[in-house]
Amino acid sequence: MFVCLGQNSYSLNSNELIDRLVVRSRRTPQLSHVNLQRNQLNQTPHYLVVGAGLAGLSCAQGLRAAGFDITVVDKSRGPSGRMSTRRGEDWACDHGAQYFTARSSAFQMDIARWQDAGVAALWTPRLQVRDENGWREGGETISRFVGVPRMTAPARLLADGLKLQTSTTVTALHRVGCSWQVETAEHGRLATGFDGVVLAVPAPQALPLLTPVSPMLAAQAREARMQGCWALMLRFDAALDLPFDAAFINHGPLRWVARDSSKPGRAGPETWSLHASTPWSEAHIEDDAETVASALVEAFIELGGRAPQAWTAHRWRYAITESATADGCAWDALQGLGLCGDWLNGGRVEGAWLSGRALAQRVRQSFVAEAC
Ligand SMILES: Cc1cc2nc3c(=O)[nH]c(=O)nc-3n(C[C@H](O)[C@H](O)[C@H](O)COP(=O)(O)OP(=O)(O)OC[C@H]3O[C@@H](n4cnc5c(N)ncnc54)[C@H](O)[C@@H]3O)c2cc1C
Repeated sequence: MFVCLGQNSYSLNSNELIDRLVVRSRRTPQLSHVNLQRNQLNQTPHYLVVGAGLAGLSCAQGLRAAGFDITVVDKSRGPSGRMSTRRGEDWACDHGAQYFTARSSAFQMDIARWQDAGVAALWTPRLQVRDENGWREGGETISRFVGVPRMTAPARLLADGLKLQTSTTVTALHRVGCSWQVETAEHGRLATGFDGVVLAVPAPQALPLLTPVSPMLAAQAREARMQGCWALMLRFDAALDLPFDAAFINHGPLRWVARDSSKPGRAGPETWSLHASTPWSEAHIEDDAETVASALVEAFIELGGRAPQAWTAHRWRYAITESATADGCAWDALQGLGLCGDWLNGGRVEGAWLSGRALAQRVRQSFVAEAC
């Protein structure tokens, strides 16, 4: 017997299951469609995860570990999202997340696994803070970790064993019967339909996909506030004689400067990563790269730096968020549609990783029956 239950289509192998569903639908109608015992299903749910940043990858790994068939797509050429590194002919520089911290024991455990695998290491820069009153020591005791040999390395480890299709931009989702059909910019409609879809993309990029199919989740994405950041990567032919490797800057256009080449495992020439503050970036988000580079290099020189041999600028339209939800993710079990990402869990790498993990747990719970 083939039954469509809102979220998925399943072949049911006993009338008993149908009886249970009917009973449960009277008792807890909102859960009745999804509280199926996995061992009573004779087909593996196939889910699509859109976005191979830390949130999408941790969700995909969690679902895969639970036996789901998972496909991950990303519009970029590789995984890792904003935990990213720009590479040139003889240089590389982290231009998104600069480091990650771990407050939860779950993330601490995964970082330990990354360290064992040689894709992450502790970074102990000489850290200073600059504000209107001058310089002071960083003074924080928090552990900062980085990917090794570059920031993308942990994501590559997480992507290991997953079916990952890069250079694939999802442009629309359609609910056809009990299946999700997926339109992409590069390949048209994907040949396979999916039982469920996880959107692990920044809120403004999730919004156009959600609006036609889920007003409730679209409203949640619309509420999130994500702000831009201009990043500038500087290359020098000799090391800069500065008394710090990284500094938080609390005045002027800059917010953060770091000697990228001081991170463990980096080779190549002296490289610095500069990030403009959020207010400055938002005010200058439409400026051209030359204007931005000129202002940020000037500010860097005021801090004791000098003009670089070469520079590359990158504009992040959706860089930073502090928004959060109680669950750290969102899940519409009836449609088989979920959201995860830093914007649902307070920002940062750890928030994204935890959000993906939380969503995988929510989805798995949808498939586990209450004891009855
Ligand atoms: C400049 C900057 C500095 C930062 N500094 C730090 C820091 O020091 N420490 C820290 O902890 N955090 C930092 N962050 C934040 C951190 O990078 C993020 O919180 C985290 O990486 C977000 O992960 P995510 O998986 O939620 O989203 P993302 O990493 O943004 O992943 C989303 C993925 O979805 C893909 N995508 C989007 N739309 C589509 C589509 N339609 N179809 C297919 N794929 C799509 C994107 O290509 C991307 O790969 C920084 C971010 C920026 C930009």
